[in-house]
Amino acid sequence: MSDRLRIALQKKGRLAEDSFALLKKCGLRFSIRGGGLLARVKNMPIDLLLVRDDDIPSFVANNAADIGIVGENVLVEEQLTAKSTLDANISMRLGFSRCKLCLAASETGPVQSAKDLQGTTIATTYPGVTARYLKESGITAKLVEMKGAVELAPSIGIAESICDLVSSGATLEANGLAAFETILDSEAVLIGSGRELSPERADTLDKLLNRIAGVLKSADSKYIMLNAPKDAVGKITSLLPGSDAPTIMPLAGQDDLVAIQAVCTETVFWETLEGLKALGARAILVLPIEKMMS
Ligand code: ATP
Ligand code: ZN
Repeated sequence: MSDRLRIALQKKGRLAEDSFALLKKCGLRFSIRGGGLLARVKNMPIDLLLVRDDDIPSFVANNAADIGIVGENVLVEEQLTAKSTLDANISMRLGFSRCKLCLAASETGPVQSAKDLQGTTIATTYPGVTARYLKESGITAKLVEMKGAVELAPSIGIAESICDLVSSGATLEANGLAAFETILDSEAVLIGSGRELSPERADTLDKLLNRIAGVLKSADSKYIMLNAPKDAVGKITSLLPGSDAPTIMPLAGQDDLVAIQAVCTETVFWETLEGLKALGARAILVLPIEKMMS
C-alpha cells in the first residue's frame, strides 16, 4: 500500500494559487497541468488531490485525503450541514484567502440592520452558518438556498437580504447592496481528521507542518541591522518589534557605537525605522528572511 500523504486542495479558484504557493515554499516540487485529479510531489512522499473546495472537508473526514486546505467558511458550513458529525477539524490557520460572511441588503430596502430581519427572507449559499446566526440571535427568518449569483436575489424579489462572502465589498456595491453585519470571519485553514496515520505518513505530515509554520512565521519576519549609540541601546532594542535577545557587537574603531542585529517577528513599519533613527540609530537595514526553523 502506498504510504504517501494525501493532501486535498482546491483545483482552481480563489484558494488554489496561494495553496500551491505555500506548498512550494515548503520545498514541495510538483506541477499542476491538465485536468488531472492527482498530482504527485516529486521530492517527497506526497500526493495532491485537486478537487472542488466544497468537497475538501468530506474528503478529509471520509479518508480520501489525510489533510486539506480549505476556507474556514466552507469547513464550518459543511460541519453545520453534514448529516452526521464530520471528522474534519482545523489544525492550522494559514492567513490567506481572508474574507467575511456578511448579511447585506439594499440601502433603500426594508432591511437596514439585523433587527429588521424578523419575518423576512434571506438568500444565501451558506444556509448552515446563516441558520446558526439566526438561532443565536433569536431571529426567525426564512432561508432560500442558492448555488450562486446570490447578490441578484433582492433585485429580482426573491429575498429582502442576502448572506454572502465579502472581501472588498465591490460586488455588493455593484448590485446596490451594503453589508450590515458580519457573521463569520474566514481565512484558509489546514484541516485534518482524528484518524491515526501510518508512521510514514505521520512523519511526512510532521515535517510538512513544521515547514508550514516556518513559512508563516518568516512571512512577517525581518532581519534588522543597525548601528546605535551605546547609551541608547536599551531604548533602541525595546523598539524592535517582536524580537528577543538581539545580538550586540562592538564596532571597530568606534568606541561610542555598537552594531545591533535582531530577528523581528512582527511587521517592521516605516514609523518604527523613523523612531529608531530619532534615537540615534544609523545605517539601518531591514532584510527579508527566506526560511526559519526553531
Ligand atoms: P469551487 O469551484 O472549488 O467550488 P468556488 O467558486 O466555490 O470554487 P472560490 O470563489 O474559488 O470558490 O472561493 C474559494 C474560497 O476562497 C472561498 O470559499 C473563500 O474561503 C475564499 N474567498 C472567497 N472570496 C474571496 C475573495 N474575494 N478573496 C479571497 N478569498 C476569497
Ligand atoms: Zn465551491
